[in-house]
Amino acid sequence: MSDHLIASYNQLPVAFEKGEGVWLFDQHGNRYLDALSGIAVCGLGHSHPELTSAISDQAGRLLHTSNLYHIPLQESLASRLCALANMDKVFFCNSGAEANEAAIKIARLHGHKKNIASPIVIVARGSFHGRTMATLSATGNTKVQSGFEPLLPGFVHVPYNDIDSIIKTVNNNEDVAAVMLEPVQGEGGINIPDSGYLTAIRELCDEHGLLMMLDEIQTGMCRTGKWFAHQHENCVPDVMTLAKSLGNGVPIGACIADGEAANLLQPGSHGSTFGGNPLAARAGLTVIDILQHENLAQRAAALGQLLLARFSESLSVYKAVKNIRGKGLMIGIELADDCPDLVGRALKQNLLINVTAEKVIRLLPPLIISDEQAEEIVERLCIVLKDYLKEAA
Ligand SMILES: *Cc1c(COP(=O)(O)O)cnc(C)c1O
Repeated sequence: MSDHLIASYNQLPVAFEKGEGVWLFDQHGNRYLDALSGIAVCGLGHSHPELTSAISDQAGRLLHTSNLYHIPLQESLASRLCALANMDKVFFCNSGAEANEAAIKIARLHGHKKNIASPIVIVARGSFHGRTMATLSATGNTKVQSGFEPLLPGFVHVPYNDIDSIIKTVNNNEDVAAVMLEPVQGEGGINIPDSGYLTAIRELCDEHGLLMMLDEIQTGMCRTGKWFAHQHENCVPDVMTLAKSLGNGVPIGACIADGEAANLLQPGSHGSTFGGNPLAARAGLTVIDILQHENLAQRAAALGQLLLARFSESLSVYKAVKNIRGKGLMIGIELADDCPDLVGRALKQNLLINVTAEKVIRLLPPLIISDEQAEEIVERLCIVLKDYLKEAA
């Protein structure tokens, strides 16, 4: 533990120095099965050879110039993302929070264009959008906000997966300019809305001239079995944000916009020193190449089915396991009670997992895992969980 780090994280007693595929190795050579991917970042696993060689090559050519100049790699990455999303234009930054900041600024420009003096963005309870002042204000979790008041105005929180409360808010408030949501809530506990929810929001936004903004920072880049989670429904948002697995560990964020929303930010109105620099853009391009030629969207869908089936077989007899759910490789196992020490117990079994929303075990394994490795995740987690439930009973 360091005396010189600001203690914003409760860290586990381990440090890794090498990774290979689904495996991480600590300083003593112990091997850990990574079912979390650095919280949905390393979708291609660790040290993917094709990515390693691309970023090494790029590091030897050019790391950074400036957005004052054309950056051809950034232009290529933008056009690849736009083709995959069927959207128009991209602003690049370095993290998820920054991508959402850009989205929120676009929402305000959109509102002002409609002569709304104080535009409002509808957001969901249980959401997570980041730790900057605007994004924590948008976040639907008082724990994230507490201590940082005054919050930024301009957000109205509604229950997630409840289209009627969005309709009611829109009808009662002429200042609404946008709706911003995660297609599956990640930090909130792997909350999967009913199918049709996003399509209904799309229709409502069209009817009222609102921007539909999707935070796909955790769900994007094939994690749920499609390139983007909203593609499980037949709709295209006006704004979509990406980060996490877009660079597989090289920091990059993207705010993608369509139609009118793509032309609201004008020269001088937004920027980022590092955003979309040659190294990050090369990483993003290579990640897309690999996701494509290894067919990882389909793999994520198939592996998700496999994992859900195995967990159901092994765990549904336990009363303390309330629900097992998932979309692709975003999997949540909800327990009846809080389980604060489960992550530490799994670590002792050399398995990396996460618990979110106090009692939801969250699994976000790399998309490159084999069937055998998926089975091993189930095996190890079930051992940890059965021990834990026996002691808790
Ligand atoms: C992780 C996450 C963010 C924040 O991303 P940072 O890169 O940590 O700023 C925002 N939204 C969602 C849905 C996330 O999962």
